[in-house]
Amino acid sequence: MRKNIVAGNWKMNKTLQEGIALATELKDALVGTTPNCDVVIGTPFIHLATVVETVKKSPIKVAAQNCADKESGAYTGEVSASMIKSTGVNYVILGHSERRAYYGETFEILRNKVLLALKNELTPIFCIGELKEEREANKQNEVVKAQLEGSVFNLSATDFGKIVIAYEPVWAIGTGLTATSEQAQEIHAFIRSLIADKYGKEVADSTSILYGGSCNAGNAAELFSKPDVDGGLIGGASLKAVDFKAIISAF
Ligand code: PEP
Repeated sequence: MRKNIVAGNWKMNKTLQEGIALATELKDALVGTTPNCDVVIGTPFIHLATVVETVKKSPIKVAAQNCADKESGAYTGEVSASMIKSTGVNYVILGHSERRAYYGETFEILRNKVLLALKNELTPIFCIGELKEEREANKQNEVVKAQLEGSVFNLSATDFGKIVIAYEPVWAIGTGLTATSEQAQEIHAFIRSLIADKYGKEVADSTSILYGGSCNAGNAAELFSKPDVDGGLIGGASLKAVDFKAIISAF
């Protein structure tokens, strides 16, 4: 069956020293516990290699927050999937709404990024979700369908089986407005039905679908209690070890 996952997205926060301190604090907080979920922290690129070392011998895995859409070469400032893999990282967050909105990441660019991540044995955490005005117009289902069709429904069933989906309504990210657990369950079930239509029930049932958007220690247990919510992608609340640990403990 599918995995439960709690993944943190630090975004552009924390110096290297602060990041090591946060990873160490979380590692220490988890000593003697056996989380009922996979635990992932998504750090800035320059932290990756060091944080991988910091969390060794702990249940914590590390994610990058992006990768290049090209394999290698003259792309100044870019970081390739193979470079990320060489740091010991296991996951990469792709298609985050901030990358789509501020860095012009199109369906096609994301399709390339997902392919390169998979080629380098990184697990993509592929983010989808609608804007506020799209939710208000009741267009959330068609938006997430187009996002899946545009960037990941080109994959083979075997490759699709290697990815994690994160449903993140953009109106809930960093706003304190969380989707209700009923809203989350409804759209997660819809996303799973799209996967079943495309790849069959077995692939759909084994795909982890995370919820993201102002998920915190106070609402995680309710969200995670829903049958199609397999964990969370956590922004703000992943920046404090005590809060992140409480979300992990919600499982
Ligand atoms: C995110 O950026 O993926 C996110 C869910 O942020 P927040 O938890 O702060 O809403």
